[in-house]
Amino acid sequence: MPVNVLFAATDALWPDYETVLQDAVQAAGVEANLSRDIAPQDVDYIVYAPDSALRDFTPYTRAKAVLNLWAGVEKIAGNPTLTIPLCRMVDPAMTQGMVEWVTGHTLRHHLGIDAHIRNPENLWHPLGPPVAWDRRVTLFGLGELGRACATALKGLGFDVAGWSRTAKSIDGITTYSGSDGFALALARSEIAITLLPDTAATTNLFDAAAFAQMPKGAVLINPGRGPLIDDPALLAALDAGQLSHATLDVFRVEPVPQDHPFWPHPNITITPHIASETRPYYASQTVAENIRRGEAGLPFLHVVDRSLGY
Ligand code: NAP
Repeated sequence: MPVNVLFAATDALWPDYETVLQDAVQAAGVEANLSRDIAPQDVDYIVYAPDSALRDFTPYTRAKAVLNLWAGVEKIAGNPTLTIPLCRMVDPAMTQGMVEWVTGHTLRHHLGIDAHIRNPENLWHPLGPPVAWDRRVTLFGLGELGRACATALKGLGFDVAGWSRTAKSIDGITTYSGSDGFALALARSEIAITLLPDTAATTNLFDAAAFAQMPKGAVLINPGRGPLIDDPALLAALDAGQLSHATLDVFRVEPVPQDHPFWPHPNITITPHIASETRPYYASQTVAENIRRGEAGLPFLHVVDRSLGY
């Protein structure tokens, strides 16, 4: 009997997944019926994107897991009707994409690329940037993405530190955890990169008090989630020169409303939640592996701890 895999993401994604996901599940050795339309009581696995219309998981009495296509799970982790394992997206292409985006935006600020390209005063041989090992960069969040970015930036020579909820040991990288560690991490962050999940514990973590602890003129790069940042406090810190620039990929409301004060701000760069998208081919391998594991009675990969929200 084939397993029934319900594709419960938006209709627009179906053409991207229909063939590659079917192929990936088959290559994993599982015979599957992949469809957008399966009677709830017959569904074995739910492939899910949080902008799906599916909100009530109660009728899916036979389902073994919800396999999320996104890395962030804030829109589903607290759903009280969801009682089966929730697995989030971890795949090498998503990690690589984030490493590329973070590295590019870090280098832009480290090198002062904008100022040198615009050069309105036609300055020649101005004082250049320090070399990377004299630039202190901190990753807030040392999970799948934060750790990979920290390692890549270290590889470029940056003086890298990281902060996470639980203590970590990573070769060549100074690590901090907990609230004392947060203050120490902030104090050395000439460039702060936030790769934390959106949870009750991380909401408005980067507020006026946090910005005040950073070195004057620091840069904030946020590809994590919008609610990590206290928006009015960020604007105030930029206007006061406490921060020199913020590059933001994620926001409380997306798309960012046209009248939002971030748009006209000269020291804010907005990117349209593009830091690292889910690529269907690679995401399908992760989904297929979890279906294979479910059918083999093995523990699922990347299971969300819903008590923590990530
Ligand atoms: P992850 O593997 O779950 O890592 C999360 C990290 O955050 C972990 O190091 C965790 O600490 C830390 N953390 C969580 N709560 C914390 C707290 N209260 N205090 C301190 N540290 C805390 O997640 P990931 O795969 O790296 O992804 C991170 C986030 O990136 C996602 O949640 C998503 O929001 C965002 N994202 C954005 C894009 C984009 O295109 N912009 C794409 C993908 C993902 P521990 O290690 O101690 O658990």
